[in-house]
Amino acid sequence: MSSILIKNGFVVTMDPRLGTLTRGDVLIRGDRIEAVGKDLEGPADKTIDATGKIVIPGLIDTHIHMWQHPLRGLASELWSHLIYKSVITPTRDRFNAKDFGTAVYLCGLEMLDRGVTGALDFCHGIMTPGHARAAYDAHTRTGQRVLMAYGLSLGYSFDGQIPDRPHGAKLDDLIELQSEQREDTMVTLGVGLSEIETAGLELFTKERNFARDHGLRATFHQNSPGQILTLHEQGLLDGELVPVHVNSVSDRELRLLREADIAISVTPEVEIAVGRSMSVLSRAFREDVKLCIGTDTPSRVSIDLLSQLRLSFTMVQAHDAAEARAAGRLPLSGQNDSRSAAPGDMLATATVNAAHALGLGDQLGTLAPGKFADVVLLETWPYGDPIGDAAAHAVLFGSSRDVDTVISGGVVRKENGALVGVDRQEIAETIADLRTRVLA
Ligand SMILES: [Zn+2]
Repeated sequence: MSSILIKNGFVVTMDPRLGTLTRGDVLIRGDRIEAVGKDLEGPADKTIDATGKIVIPGLIDTHIHMWQHPLRGLASELWSHLIYKSVITPTRDRFNAKDFGTAVYLCGLEMLDRGVTGALDFCHGIMTPGHARAAYDAHTRTGQRVLMAYGLSLGYSFDGQIPDRPHGAKLDDLIELQSEQREDTMVTLGVGLSEIETAGLELFTKERNFARDHGLRATFHQNSPGQILTLHEQGLLDGELVPVHVNSVSDRELRLLREADIAISVTPEVEIAVGRSMSVLSRAFREDVKLCIGTDTPSRVSIDLLSQLRLSFTMVQAHDAAEARAAGRLPLSGQNDSRSAAPGDMLATATVNAAHALGLGDQLGTLAPGKFADVVLLETWPYGDPIGDAAAHAVLFGSSRDVDTVISGGVVRKENGALVGVDRQEIAETIADLRTRVLA
């Protein structure tokens, strides 16, 4: 088994027992972390000098439709959900199976480039069984750790404009794909359930039970008020479910989510673009719900998860400040005005909490012995080491530009600021070629 020794970094373990190490080391053997500490001894097959770098667990995007990657910019004018459905959704059937796989593959590469080693890909553009297999194969090739949620959404065939397969055919195909699943990959299959608003509770329940019966994690777009309470009453809430958006949730519903040990995925930039409230960010922190962050639509939102973390933290502070103003607590004393979260807390949303969303809470999301070796090194040199909390530094000052090294599954995917074994010219030509068809 090959080994990698990362030396002398600011190691943000995200493990409460290990904390953050200044000039710490991480030893990787095979696809797992073997040791974390100071002055670890080799020998190792490869040693990476992390001086001047922050070492964090690989970032995980918990809600993204990766097939939209070549459409970047097509939804730039997005303002309300209607535009999304009129501009983006109709492109879905212009992707042939090969294009679909290529789009997913390129999205995975760019995410890795930006330090995003994991994804919950809500794959709702599957038009044929060939599309599903092309996406699955693409995921196995990138080196990302992926929960590929096979989209059942009938909601995206709205108004009969988009041709879609019968619901039963999708379920049959998913079972078949599950039987073809390979053990030696970092890809797991799940289900992208239909929206309750469009499918109705009965069909949603059927899909949810189907997922349970087949041991598949499930995710769904949760928008309307009261749905979490309904799902609780129906016995449909458990830790295998990942609700997305969740922006109209009540505090009582947040407590139900916490009790069911459910991770929720909020997609701040999209929520704002379609006019929804973002108070859930602060309230989820206060209710100790496992909050995760997603980018949702690559056609409209940058897949730079670090920038989303910074934006999300700013929204948390904006909400907390609005509450303080409304309660007459301005100017803030800094003592009596409790805040929902510190900047470093935001990193948990894309690491420990997100690992839970992928169903890998006990194996991923922290830098601790026994965990999967998905690790990112952020460069701070030559502009100065972090002052104070290195996790806060990553959230407030980190950007994709700083992503120096990316390791997933114990394999170096990016080194010295460049993806390993990837021809950038070839990528450019592939995207240009694909766009001639899907944007025609
Ligand atoms: Zn979505």
